[in-house]
Amino acid sequence: MKAFHFDFNTAFFRIDYLKDFIQKLSNWGYDTLFWELEDFVIWDSVPDIAQSDSISKTELQDLLSFAENLGFENIPLLQCLGHCEYVLKCSRYNTMADTPEKWGPYCPSNEKTKVFLSNWIKEYSDIFAKSRFFHLGCDEVWHLGAVCPECKKRIIADGKAALMAEHINFLADIVRSLRKIPVIWADMLFIYPEMADMLAKDIVMTDWRYELRNDYKKLWLWDEKGGYLIDEAGISENMHNFFGKYLYQDGKLNIHYTADFLKDHGFKVICAGASSCFPDNFLLGNASNHIYNSCTMMDKGMENLGYLHTSWTVHLFFYELQPAIEMVNHNVKPEQLMNEYTMKYFGIEGKDFFTALDLLSPRVLFSGAESTGCGKAIKKAAPGIIRTRLSEFYDNGILENELSKTVQYRNDFAVAVKKLHDLRKEIRYGEKLFELYVLAAEALLNRADFGILAASEFLGKPHTIDKIQVKNELLRLKKIYLAEYMRRQTPTHAVQITHTIFDTLLEYLN
Ligand SMILES: [Zn+2]
Repeated sequence: MKAFHFDFNTAFFRIDYLKDFIQKLSNWGYDTLFWELEDFVIWDSVPDIAQSDSISKTELQDLLSFAENLGFENIPLLQCLGHCEYVLKCSRYNTMADTPEKWGPYCPSNEKTKVFLSNWIKEYSDIFAKSRFFHLGCDEVWHLGAVCPECKKRIIADGKAALMAEHINFLADIVRSLRKIPVIWADMLFIYPEMADMLAKDIVMTDWRYELRNDYKKLWLWDEKGGYLIDEAGISENMHNFFGKYLYQDGKLNIHYTADFLKDHGFKVICAGASSCFPDNFLLGNASNHIYNSCTMMDKGMENLGYLHTSWTVHLFFYELQPAIEMVNHNVKPEQLMNEYTMKYFGIEGKDFFTALDLLSPRVLFSGAESTGCGKAIKKAAPGIIRTRLSEFYDNGILENELSKTVQYRNDFAVAVKKLHDLRKEIRYGEKLFELYVLAAEALLNRADFGILAASEFLGKPHTIDKIQVKNELLRLKKIYLAEYMRRQTPTHAVQITHTIFDTLLEYLN
């Protein structure tokens, strides 16, 4: 399985753009699509969550048939525990919430949740009649039981692993009764490894890790804040107890200890990498990192059930700026892929190009999705969001540091913009695509200028940023970005995203 994951959380793609992109995925050797549809579709089970530009089930059916005719297997992905903000924020459903305002898990102890999810899974299953699999989500439910008294009670009595495992087994039973194979994200099993002995063994595990690279020789340590990379010295006693024999292979650190742990416990495993994810800035991802990561996860996936390539749309840069999507392949060196990419699209060597992208990969002030009010739960920024964020950063004692980071990265951005302007004269073809990279670079430089201006003003510090110039550049960029988003997304969402990225800053300057 070489699969691609569509995320419709902050992106409602146009049907013509999706079809064109699915055709490309087919050309690049993908054979499976995971559809995380959320409120992109008008569901009979949850009519209240539909947006003005959600599509009908007939339109979805047409899309799925299009993909099927190209040989794709379409797999539904419905989040059934965490990441359900898009449902639970709606007053009709929020009595099913477990921890209001925290990543939006459903309450697994609530009977209403069970009936609700059973019905919705059946509705999904009817549309995805030919899929062999059903992905139930279930990742990152760190706050489960933190507020809800019933879940809290059950956690004290039997443990959090038992609470989650019971819910997942219940969901898996429904999926099985619909003659499909259940799939979940595997991360909670690495925080609560005892779940491995509680879950049905036919549940396919998606082992996702987006920072991991073959060349790093570091392990990913999962925890309830997300996790982080560690070297050998960082391996805790707990990790030794749970994962002991999987942590090493041939005397070296085994970066894929999680997949091997799952396999050894009787589960089939899909490995997942990403070409867009946290903590990318929202204008251009960390391209070379994503290429290394995708190749690393792809190689392991091929030893298992397959590879799933994810691209999270809360990081809003275009698919065309994610070279990992198309280049990721089995047993290929990342450096070789980078050269192949630039040769194919621009007729130049890859080194300078990817060096420029590396310089553009950090986050500066107001270049991360949530910093301008765009997150998984919120699609439209609240008025005055920049001032609100400045106050929050100040109150949390991080504004000074964010400002100095932005000043430092602004220099890198300026170097990268110059590099790309120079390379523009060298490319032999592919001007249109190259301009998208230049656009993102210029937008990042403008954002750094804005960040320096706004943070300096807030802190009462001197600066040399020209306010009028920043504003004019924002207006120029907004116009181009709006046109680009219009080509890819529904008009409503294109306007919403452009508003989040540009109007929030312009509002501050007015
Ligand atoms: Zn609960």
